[in-house]
Amino acid sequence: MGYLFGPVLSRRLGLSMGVDLLRHKTCNLDCIYCELGRTDCLTCGRGRFVPPQKVLGEIREKRNEPFDYLTFAGSGEPTLSQDLGRVVAFAKETVSRPVAVITNSTLLTSPAVRKEVAAADIVLPSLDAASPAAFQAINRPDPGLKIEEIIQGLKEFRREYSGEIWLEVMLVAGINDHEADLIARAAESTEPDRIQLNTVVRTPAEPVRPLSEEEMVRMLEIFPGAELIPDWDWRVPVDIRNRILDSLCRSPSTLEEICRLHDLTDSDAIKYCKILEHDGLITRRIEGGKLCFLGSKSRGRG
Ligand code: SF4
Repeated sequence: MGYLFGPVLSRRLGLSMGVDLLRHKTCNLDCIYCELGRTDCLTCGRGRFVPPQKVLGEIREKRNEPFDYLTFAGSGEPTLSQDLGRVVAFAKETVSRPVAVITNSTLLTSPAVRKEVAAADIVLPSLDAASPAAFQAINRPDPGLKIEEIIQGLKEFRREYSGEIWLEVMLVAGINDHEADLIARAAESTEPDRIQLNTVVRTPAEPVRPLSEEEMVRMLEIFPGAELIPDWDWRVPVDIRNRILDSLCRSPSTLEEICRLHDLTDSDAIKYCKILEHDGLITRRIEGGKLCFLGSKSRGRG
């Protein structure tokens, strides 16, 4: 069994090599929008879910593969692993790229967890609610968790940590958007470097409704200075799709080359490659230590 996965194309982190310290769906939340489905193991107890030596071995093996960030994420909430601090510390010594931790913020109430997470170069916590009712509705937490304490934990973490904090807020229509102003105030009070607004696009745990593009743009007035992770439009414009496919069928290209050749931002190139790869129209291989994309032999056009 592999504990590292990817690199995946991440709109927030570019090429991200994931590290998974958990068994499938181990979390202290059961978010209605979770792409992994319902939480099988709802727990607030930290434990050992995978053999740490094997994870360290895989980090050593894959340290020279092409990726921008080594990212602790995966099958649930990474801070539930009692090995997180040790593995992050090893990764920092072993890998020359920055180390990121994605967390649902809940265990940042613990000084010990804050210390472990603070060894990372960048931390991406999330905050989807500011009231107990919305917390219950969107995150369906373990009964011991209190949203006020979690917000306080994020503030403590900011005081102790000088690295980058990118706070993600997931907005779901009819579930937490009515208290966007409360969430915005809570998010600002935790003083992250960036606030990134997201909405549901991939197959979630429950049939929940995303905010429209217009509604998300309006959210920028409520969250001044925030940015959108504009993933709601899960399509590739036909002319761009055809240009990318034509060029990748002639010769493989890295993400940088795709950006340059087709005049795309990093974020759009990542999004389009993700979609084309998902649809089986392009594949990947490593060439000269770089990740390249190439056109699949049989592909449909339209
Ligand atoms: S915190 Fe993350 S892994 Fe846990 S239920 Fe929510 S979205 Fe899924």
